[in-house]
Amino acid sequence: FDNRDGYIWYNGELKPWRESTLHVLSHAVHYGSAVFEGERSYNGKVFKLAEHGERLIKSGEILDMKIPYSAAELDDAVIETLAANDITDGYIRRIAWRGSEMMGVSAQTTRINVAIACWEWPSYFKPEERLKGIRLDLSKWARPAPNTAPTNAKAAGLYMICTLSKHEAERKGYADALMLDYRGQVAEATGANVFFIKDGQIHTPKPDCFLDGITRRTVIGLAKARGYEVIERAIMPEEMEGFEECFLTGTAAEVTPVAEIGQYTFTPGQVCKTMMEDYMALVRGENTAVAAE
Ligand code: PMP
Repeated sequence: FDNRDGYIWYNGELKPWRESTLHVLSHAVHYGSAVFEGERSYNGKVFKLAEHGERLIKSGEILDMKIPYSAAELDDAVIETLAANDITDGYIRRIAWRGSEMMGVSAQTTRINVAIACWEWPSYFKPEERLKGIRLDLSKWARPAPNTAPTNAKAAGLYMICTLSKHEAERKGYADALMLDYRGQVAEATGANVFFIKDGQIHTPKPDCFLDGITRRTVIGLAKARGYEVIERAIMPEEMEGFEECFLTGTAAEVTPVAEIGQYTFTPGQVCKTMMEDYMALVRGENTAVAAE
C-alpha cells in the first residue's frame, strides 16, 4: 500500500505518498503507541467528520498522548487531503503516533506525529447482495477488561487480537469473527459493533469494554426514529440461539447483515433491510424521512 501516487498530510504538510515514512525505532512500532480513525466520505462529504476528529483527540488523551493539533485543525486537514487526492467517495485514515526520539518503555519526550491518508473507496450498496448475510467465526480471543487495556480508545494496540481473530476466521472460510469479552459476554466483531433482533426489538451489548462506534450510535438513533425499541444490555452467547436477525455496524461495514455466528444462524429480514437503507440514505444526505439524532 506504500508504493502509489498521491499525497499524505504529514505533521502539517502534504507529502508525496511514497515519502510518507517513519523510522524503524518509532515508539509506536515497538510499543503500540498509536491512535487512529477510520472515516468515509460520501459524495464529497465526510460523514461525522467532527465526531471522528474529537474521538482521535480523546483516544490520544486516554493513551497519554497530547495530539499537537486541535480537532478542528485536523478536520480541515482531512478536507485538504481529500482535495489533494481528488477523492469524493473514499476512506480516510487519520493516525497519531509516538516517534523515535527515545527508545524504551518510557516515551515522555517523543514527538506525537500525525498523518492523514485517504484513498478511493466507493460504497457498492447492493441491498439484495448484503441481505444474504455474512458468516462469522466465534473467536477464542476475549476483549480485555477496561482495567487491562484502554478499551474506550481507538488504539492500535487493541487490534492485535482483532487481527489474530480475523486471520483464523479467514483461514476457516469466514468473513470475520465475533469476540466475547472478559466476562464471556458478546462484545463486537474485529472492526464493527453487533446488533441482534428478536420480536421486533433490537438488542446490542453495552459498550463498556469496546468501542462505542460512531455508526453504532447513528444506527441506534435511526432505529429509535423508526419506532424500534433499542435495548443496550449484557448479552450472553447462548442467547444468540433465539435471535432472528443480526447485523454489524461500522464506518467500513456500514450496516452489514449477518447470517451465521459459529453454530448460530440468523435470517436477515425487515429490520436489517430498514436499517441498511436508512443508514445509506443518511450518509448520502438523502434521508429526509427520518430525522436521526
Ligand atoms: N469496533 C472496532 C474494533 C472497530 O475497529 C470499529 C471501526 N472503527 C468499530 C467498532 C465501529 O466504529 P465506527 O462505527 O466508529 O466506525
